[in-house]
Parts: sequence; structure tokens; C-alpha cells
Amino acid sequence: MKIVLIGIQGAGKSTQGSMLSDKYKIPYLSSGHIFREMAKEKTRLGRWLKELLNSGALVPDETTLEVVLTYLKKPEYQNGFVLDGFPRTVAQAEAFNGSIDHVVYIDVSDKEALWRISGRVAEREDETLSAIRQRISLFHSVTTPVIEAYRKKGKLRTVDGELSIEDVFAQIIAAIEA
Ligand code: AMP
Repeated sequence: MKIVLIGIQGAGKSTQGSMLSDKYKIPYLSSGHIFREMAKEKTRLGRWLKELLNSGALVPDETTLEVVLTYLKKPEYQNGFVLDGFPRTVAQAEAFNGSIDHVVYIDVSDKEALWRISGRVAEREDETLSAIRQRISLFHSVTTPVIEAYRKKGKLRTVDGELSIEDVFAQIIAAIEA
């Protein structure tokens, strides 16, 4: 099963992604995690990525596509995956016409997301308020059209992400097994 999770930062994508990975025995892959690892490298690419990530800007499509599509070619992803954070732009979605079974949009308001993020201890260097605001704003301008495109294709499953972790998970399972 190939699942894509979409939602703003703080929506619970990584929590739900890990639970889905356990349930369906498919690997969980986060594009943000890949980029954060690459940003630790003391190379020009690493330093460039670190600055981009800390600002909350998106990595350009060309780089993102090269990195994520290379990852997805690995043998462990051939029987399915839960993908968090990709595709995030229409260009990425168009280039990634892989056979996705379900696109799950975890819908959480900006207010709730900011509330959740501000209540947890920042574990990441890129979790500054300005970077988070920038990511949320880019989500609305750049990722909303991706959601609409999947909706038109009939692949979109929207769940209310403001419920408890267990209830959100139950909604996702119900949506993808329907
Ligand atoms: P995330 O953990 O998904 O919030 O991603 C953290 C950061 O990684 C983002 O703010 C972007 O800079 C970068 N990133 C992750 N996924 C993508 C993507 N699909 N397209 C562009 N940039 C991305």
C-alpha cells in the first residue's frame, strides 16, 4: 500500500505515519527527515540545505525530486510506503505520478498547529516560530493546489486532525479501507 500524508507542521503526520507503518508493515519515509540528515553534512550542499531548512523555505523542486525519487527506487519501498512531506508542490506531484493508493490530508487549523508546536520542546533547530509560520504560509499557497489536484482525481481522503491520536488513526484506517 502506498500512502501519502499531507498536512501542516503540527498536524500529526509523523505520529500517524509511524502508526500506519506498524499496522501495514510498510516503511515510513519523511522528506523533511532526509533533508535534515543531509543538512548535517559539512559540505556546500549540506550548508545550503541547513540555511534553507532553518528559514522555513522549501527545497527547490529539482533537488527535492532528485533526492526523494532516488530514495523511493530503493528495494525496501517497492511494496509500499507511508510518505510524509512529499509531494508538496504541483510540480512535485506531477513528476511523481507513482501509483499512490491513498492521499490522506490531516486537516488541522493553523491555530491548533501553532498551539501544539509551541507546547512542545523544540527538538529541531528549524523549529523557530518564524520558520514554522513560513512553512504554514507556504503550505497554504503552494500545497493547497496539490490537495485540490488529488481531490479532483478522487484520491483524497480528508480526516479531522484535531481529534485524539487514536481517533485520527481510526479515521485514517476507515478512510483507506473503505
Ligand atoms: P518537514 O519535516 O516535512 O516539515 O520538512 C522540513 C523542511 O524540509 C521543509 O521546511 C523544507 O525546507 C524541506 N522539505 C521537506 N519536504 C519537502 C518537499 N517535498 N519539497 C520541498 N522542501 C521540502
